[in-house]
Amino acid sequence: MRAAVALACLLFVTVDTCASASAPLPTPKRPPTPSPAGLVPLPCDGSEPLRPAHGFYCLGDRNYVTPQARQAIIRTARAVHKAYPDTVVTFMDASWPSGKKPFPPHLSHGDGRQIDLALFYESKDGRRLPKPPGSINGYEDFEPRPVAEPDPCPGKWKHRRPDPPKSRTWRLDEGRSEFLTRTLIKEGQVRRVLIEPHLEKRFGLWGNAKARFQGCHAARHDDHLHVDFR
Ligand SMILES: [Zn+2]
Repeated sequence: MRAAVALACLLFVTVDTCASASAPLPTPKRPPTPSPAGLVPLPCDGSEPLRPAHGFYCLGDRNYVTPQARQAIIRTARAVHKAYPDTVVTFMDASWPSGKKPFPPHLSHGDGRQIDLALFYESKDGRRLPKPPGSINGYEDFEPRPVAEPDPCPGKWKHRRPDPPKSRTWRLDEGRSEFLTRTLIKEGQVRRVLIEPHLEKRFGLWGNAKARFQGCHAARHDDHLHVDFR
């Protein structure tokens, strides 16, 4: 049965499904051999409390980072999992094994020193949700900017991607999202974390040297954190 499940995972099923099918978590493996460009893949097999938002990121080799960044991401995921044992960190785009830029559609990814991590969400009645609830690829489950907060980029279309409908059944899980952000900021290998100003204020990080606004030519960052490594 396990062999059948593993085969199905390899062929068709999202990695998310595969991780739950193979519980309990297997023993963590040794770090993989680097690509010629020196990059290594983030684990896709559920051996760490880390998973891709969709199997596409692993099947498309879009999960490569430097060995140092890999260790930092795993340390962060373990810290989140220790604080919230039911929680797994969700990742999206990193880089290709070639380390080549550009890495569409991203402006800055490509050399293995970047990762996008999803924020956390809960239901309107406060139940923790395991992954971005409305998105297939992990992006664009935006947390709306409070009306009282100024628009940091008036008139910029990219920054004005629409908020999710008011009728949605979920909202940002502030506790877990703040914990993830703070854990990343404390991590020595992290150079900066890109985040929307309204979340930076909400998480009590306003003015922190590592918490930065991405600017008006990049996508919104109130659905995910973009993390740059040294
Ligand atoms: Zn990014």
